Amino acid sequence: MKKYLKEHEWSIIEEGFDPANHEISESVFSIGNGHMGQRANFEETYTGPTLQGSYMAGVYYPDKTRVGWWKNGYPEYFAKVLNSTNWIGLKVIIDDEELDLNQAKVSEFVRELNMKEGYLQRTFTAELQNGKIIKVQATRFVSIVDKEVGALKYEITPFNFSGTLSLTSYLDGDIKNEDANYDEKFWDPVNTWTRENRASVTVKTKKLDFYFCSTVETQIFTNNQKLEITSKSEEARKYAGLVYDVPLTKGESTTIYKYAANITNRDHDHQQLEAVSTDVLDHAVAKGFETLRQEQADAWASKWLNSDIIIKGDVAAQQGIRFNIFQLNQTYTGEDSRLNIGPKGFTGEKYGGSTYWDTEAYCLPFYLSTADQKIARNLLVYRYNHLEKAKENARKLGFEKGALYPMVTMNGEECHNEWEITFEEIHRNGAIAYAIYNYVNYTGDKSYLGEYGIEVLVEISRFWEERVNYVPHKDVYMILGVTGPNEYENNVNNNWYTNLISSWTMRYTIDVLNHLQETDQELYQQWIDKLQLKQAEVKQWEEIIAKMYYPKDEEKEIFLQQDNFLDKEIIPVDQLEDKHLPLNQNWSWDRILRSCFIKQADVLQGLYFLDHEFDIETIRRNFDFYEPITIHESSLSPCVHSILACRLGYKEKAYEMYLRTARLDLDNYNNDTEDGCHTTSMAGTWMSVVHGFGGLKVKENQLILSPFIPGQWQSFSFKVLFRGARLCIQVDQEKVTIINETDTPLDLVIYEKERHLDQNATISVQI
Ligand code: BGC
Repeated sequence: MKKYLKEHEWSIIEEGFDPANHEISESVFSIGNGHMGQRANFEETYTGPTLQGSYMAGVYYPDKTRVGWWKNGYPEYFAKVLNSTNWIGLKVIIDDEELDLNQAKVSEFVRELNMKEGYLQRTFTAELQNGKIIKVQATRFVSIVDKEVGALKYEITPFNFSGTLSLTSYLDGDIKNEDANYDEKFWDPVNTWTRENRASVTVKTKKLDFYFCSTVETQIFTNNQKLEITSKSEEARKYAGLVYDVPLTKGESTTIYKYAANITNRDHDHQQLEAVSTDVLDHAVAKGFETLRQEQADAWASKWLNSDIIIKGDVAAQQGIRFNIFQLNQTYTGEDSRLNIGPKGFTGEKYGGSTYWDTEAYCLPFYLSTADQKIARNLLVYRYNHLEKAKENARKLGFEKGALYPMVTMNGEECHNEWEITFEEIHRNGAIAYAIYNYVNYTGDKSYLGEYGIEVLVEISRFWEERVNYVPHKDVYMILGVTGPNEYENNVNNNWYTNLISSWTMRYTIDVLNHLQETDQELYQQWIDKLQLKQAEVKQWEEIIAKMYYPKDEEKEIFLQQDNFLDKEIIPVDQLEDKHLPLNQNWSWDRILRSCFIKQADVLQGLYFLDHEFDIETIRRNFDFYEPITIHESSLSPCVHSILACRLGYKEKAYEMYLRTARLDLDNYNNDTEDGCHTTSMAGTWMSVVHGFGGLKVKENQLILSPFIPGQWQSFSFKVLFRGARLCIQVDQEKVTIINETDTPLDLVIYEKERHLDQNATISVQI
């Protein structure tokens, strides 16, 4: 835990420069636009510890697997999101001395991430070793309007001297991934050029032929006058730069603008990349920095209109939730169904920027409620497009039919290589089915089922059918040798959550088949033919559903996380001395596996997903048993506990759990923010407010709300889009007010009572 950022409602602010915090800040202050993103690296050279990181969505490298002991079925490679050409680079030399905040005396340092308008800004004063003092203000953003455009403005004012600035504005494509398995560089050069004020670098991946072209234009102004300075060109392998000599006058500012067009062959023919980048750059330069920045502010204003959460009376909480919403909107914008959400977004390399079950289990609800429906739909289509690969994956592991989606993927192929996760954490298949249900339940868009959903559901159900095993002497079906969501247990039998979600998937698949048969006989028949679905298969699913075995303890009346769970010594987490925490850094794996401590919601994950199938007392007994022994060493965990605590009326617990997620990265709670932010868990934080404190659910096409307000807040409000309406739900200590901001009237349920909300109307209900 490290608290050094200033609390502010709309900005993240760091005052004073401490190199020890720099890599954390590089993660926290990251910027992104769904197409690309980068850590908050300095534009100028910095020789202190830093992770230079610039990432292009969907551009990855199949890095050859590295394991100690190869196991059959392991994937050949682990996909790495590629650290790519650094387009922000400026080498700043003042009278022969290079500016480097690791060497200079730095004062008045302020770094700000302006979340309202979507830009990053840094101001500082630096005294160089030659005694020259400069003031600098650097502002940059990646445009959410023109996705391929990034722009920066770098203003230098000499404070106590007149002299010369030697400025190199460069592109460096000779970049390495910090997490490369064999310390190898992944990019090959294709072309570099410089021309007048432009420089361009095109590189290509050593495998898979991803091409990336970055072209930049640099402009220099003094006193609002554009300087026409002839530059010298510097070109090297994967590098192009322009060197300018600029006279500096004491007290007068020199402003450098750098515009970048970052283009990949994911969107354009690789032979056209340079031409396209030149066009994109022409447009950006024609607009100019201030117009681009204004467009950015306007576009962010519309994003906030749909997704803002306002918390009054608690600035830290306000900042925390806005930071989470901001990062989610920076990471995934949903126009491109080939893209997904990496657990660290564009903020770091760990977890490879790949897709995990996090998307379906945690992120989908955020996009469902705050963005156009087709954005959430694209997240589902992404998995639909990977269905063939998921079938191949199942064959690879020896299954004759069905689909097993990967635990970690870029292109549909599994790329995780720890046996307990790759082969055993099969519950992920259930989350993909559940996301279809969640989407249809929320949006009412049943057309998705007949268009894509049914095929995915049938193939997942077929996988479960083959994966279960029948135990004749008990006349039950079991699922043996799995890892549940709680990764602090491996190779267990009958993980309650996995058994539940598998059986639920088969049930839902049958419901969807029945729905199609009832509503569109022709379409139904087409799918039966295409999938060659036999009645016997459906019968077998029914049999499995009826005879699925669920471990439970009759005396405590709880579900058991897995067989024999109660043979463990049950010790509450709060009896552990601090020196043991976090367990994953202090205990051997063996000790963790034998202990009762639960990394993340497991039984409770099931009760959260399917809470409509369980009565409140069942949820309470399980919560009371599992919460005290859950150690929450996955950032995905506290949100589920917070939401269930809300349902149970455990207000203090709900708030305590919420606090663990809300400022996870801002306060570096897990001491690992320098690796990147916990982007997918940010969606969990959003859920804690909206599904937890807001009590939002959708049942039988109706929106249900039952808000409660933590005592620490004066009021909070959130927005949701639901079936054509946008609602603003405001909650204070006395009442709930719901404002319909659209022309779409709506029936909804507030505190278990049906209400009608006219178009553009407001209703208030006492708490
Ligand atoms: C969690 C997984 C999660 C992954 C990526 C792990 O620590 O246990 O559930 O999918 O992180 O966020």
